[in-house]
Amino acid sequence: MSDGDRIRHTADQQKRVALMVIVALSWLSTLIAWILMEQRGVSSPALRDVFVANIVFHPVMFLVIRKRLLPQRIVDLACLLFGAGICAGCTALALYFPVYGASIDLKPLYLWIPIIYVFAFTLSGHKTSLVISLAMLALFFMISLPYLLRHAAQPDGNFTIQMLLVSAVLIAALHFLSSYQRRLQITQMTVDELARLANTDELTRLPNRRLLAERVASELIRFARYGRAFTVILFDIDHFKSVNDRFGHPIGDQVLVALTARAQKSLREVDTLGRWGGEEFIIILPEVGLDEGLHKAEALCASVAAQALFGDHAITISCGVADVRPGDTADSLFQRADAALYVAKRRGRNRAECVAPTDAPASDTPMPA
Ligand code: GH3
Ligand code: MG
Ligand code: MG
Repeated sequence: MSDGDRIRHTADQQKRVALMVIVALSWLSTLIAWILMEQRGVSSPALRDVFVANIVFHPVMFLVIRKRLLPQRIVDLACLLFGAGICAGCTALALYFPVYGASIDLKPLYLWIPIIYVFAFTLSGHKTSLVISLAMLALFFMISLPYLLRHAAQPDGNFTIQMLLVSAVLIAALHFLSSYQRRLQITQMTVDELARLANTDELTRLPNRRLLAERVASELIRFARYGRAFTVILFDIDHFKSVNDRFGHPIGDQVLVALTARAQKSLREVDTLGRWGGEEFIIILPEVGLDEGLHKAEALCASVAAQALFGDHAITISCGVADVRPGDTADSLFQRADAALYVAKRRGRNRAECVAPTDAPASDTPMPA
């Protein structure tokens, strides 16, 4: 998982938990408000309907979110539309049907409406949020308009105009912030993609030479600090030129891809298989000594040769194995693996060789090309 994916996954998890907390708190506050209004005798049949809708909706939504019964986007939209619907209904009751609206006070109600826009921008996508918010603003404007035409000068009229203006400013500010956040997300995605391209071989999708060198460098640090041994296998396809010559370059490419898929099957999660260049590959085996590394390389040679890799043609590979030794650098380690591969080629191919531990310590010679 890339850094960007991890951040998005964590953000989704946090959003789910936040939504469950909000739904639970809304349910509790609605229940308390209802009980208090009934005790004071200021409720009405219309308000009771609103309370009942709230008391039923919130637990249902809580369950849906907790059990992931619906896609997150649908849940977001349902919560948003429910909140907007309740606010719109209460506004209409308070403005036009004071008898049914009973004690609905416009001022606290209007405090909640901007919060719905905030939710629209935190819950939905960038463009969807803007469309939903503008649609809700239009709805509240249409609901208020007949009242404003007649009572604009009255305190409630003035308050309604202020609420609409604040809503418009808030939507503009939220849209600006959300555009900024979106640009950051796109930048993060670009960074992820660039990192992937910089470290991945285009054809096989394996770690490339650059990433392999990085992984070996960190294994060398682990070895120097904690004595954690590791072994590398450098392998090369035998007579690959003749595969290209006989079947063409595109088939040669397919062989490279098929070979990596087969090699990957024999690896552990901690091992790294990468393309060193051309038809040469490297496997890094952490916590593996020379004997075990040689054994694994021989098994790999056998498994590649055992079955046809393209059509009914099989290929063979040769492996050079080198374990890390005190004083090693990446160059010296790769040079030993390359020397061992050369021996394997000379001794007839389709085999694995290593440089014996008793041989002279590696010197600082350049990496093989
Ligand atoms: P051996 O290793 O057994 O000595 O013989 P070989 O024929 O494999 O040796 P050599 O290293 O000389 O040839 C490697 C060939 O691999 C030459 C080159 O055209 C081919 N090759 C390198 N990269 C690619 C690639 O990405 N795709 C294809 N199709 N061929 C490639
Ligand atoms: Mg070759
Ligand atoms: Mg080669």
